[in-house]
Amino acid sequence: MSYKCGCACGAIKFEIHGEPINAAVCHCKQCKKATGAPLFMAPAFHDRDVTMKKGEAKWFQSSSKAKRGFCGDCGSPLFFKFENSEATDVLIGCFDDPHQIEPTEHLWSDERMSWLPVDDSLPCYTQDRGKKLF
Ligand SMILES: [Zn+2]
Ligand SMILES: [Zn+2]
Repeated sequence: MSYKCGCACGAIKFEIHGEPINAAVCHCKQCKKATGAPLFMAPAFHDRDVTMKKGEAKWFQSSSKAKRGFCGDCGSPLFFKFENSEATDVLIGCFDDPHQIEPTEHLWSDERMSWLPVDDSLPCYTQDRGKKLF
């Protein structure tokens, strides 16, 4: 499968050729802060499947274990990446067609917004797959 992606202002464009490894929805506080959104959804791809076509993301170290990539011009969040990982999570909102990929699991589901019901049948984990919650 191939996907076209980019930021809100068009300074950054990239393509993905490959299948997602997974597509987690994350409800953690840090993802809320980093996106300004009530939840985060980002399919993971092997780094080799992601090709930058225009511009380069800026990165900030969001914890000792991970960094987040964004557009330095418009601020759109684009990537999440664990240190020493060969995979990159690509935020679903930067896909030109965000309906192409469906989620596979919920992470940090104990921090889910109380007004946001989850009635899918996906596995829900507390923390980062630390423990299955229900
Ligand atoms: Zn931009
Ligand atoms: Zn998170």
